[in-house]
Amino acid sequence: MAVARLPVMAAHHFTIDVEEYFQVSALERYVARSDWDRYPSRVAAQMERLLALLARHNARATCFVVGWVAERHRDLIRTIARAGHEIASHGWDHARVTKLTPTQFRSSVRRSKRELEDITGVPVVGFRAPSFSIVAGGEWALDILLEEGYGYDSSLFPIRRPGYGYPTGRSDPYFIERSAGRLAEIPPATLRWGGMRLPAAGGGYFRLLPYGVVRAALRQCERRHVPGTFYIHPWEIDPDQPRVHVPWLTRARHYRGLRRTVPRLERLLTEFRFVPIRETMFALRRRSSRPIGLHKRSA
Ligand SMILES: [Zn+2]
Repeated sequence: MAVARLPVMAAHHFTIDVEEYFQVSALERYVARSDWDRYPSRVAAQMERLLALLARHNARATCFVVGWVAERHRDLIRTIARAGHEIASHGWDHARVTKLTPTQFRSSVRRSKRELEDITGVPVVGFRAPSFSIVAGGEWALDILLEEGYGYDSSLFPIRRPGYGYPTGRSDPYFIERSAGRLAEIPPATLRWGGMRLPAAGGGYFRLLPYGVVRAALRQCERRHVPGTFYIHPWEIDPDQPRVHVPWLTRARHYRGLRRTVPRLERLLTEFRFVPIRETMFALRRRSSRPIGLHKRSA
């Protein structure tokens, strides 16, 4: 396959899935959507802390915002956009794509895009599925994203995990050719280790594994001259969030390591440079005249 190396990609992607602590997929069985308005909101306060952190380190992020949150926090979304960060969509109500019909998915990505564009006046070009829930067999969602005016997706996590993962996906940004057009895919970072690909993109992996795992993954990306994509949630820097009563394993995964997150983020932001995904997408488009993937197929 023809390969175009991209020596410009010195910066990585710092992404934030902007959602409330009670909207997390791990808790969805225990928190009814109809009850969301009864929980105290904490997303704005935590986002302010993340924005201050990013500003101190001159980092610009991509924020995948849940439409339900945007509708209730319009000033917050405007503040994020004015600070130079990208606003992208995380769906309307954080439903997994695997639970939606194509019609419902279209409605979710259309409504959230319109809401976010109405708030900021800036076109929304990016999407990330809640819990990376575009899995094998769900590629129809990529066509709908193209038809609804999206330019990139960041949902295909190239690992195998119960409930999510897209193991045949590539590790590095690439273009996917669909009947509806050409979509840039910006996968979350993975670490190549002993012939395997391990998740190393952020979230629980960032809080619960040694810091060096994420750092090693981003360094590997640099050696391949491609950006790595990191993600975090506002609730992951909020040790004082009200606890939802859940079984112990969910509790351990969800609530452990919350006090570790901010010091680790400080370190990450000191060691790496970050730009919004939108900028990478436009750079990829400018540099590619080929209708095929830009990088070597993943090993
Ligand atoms: Zn989410």
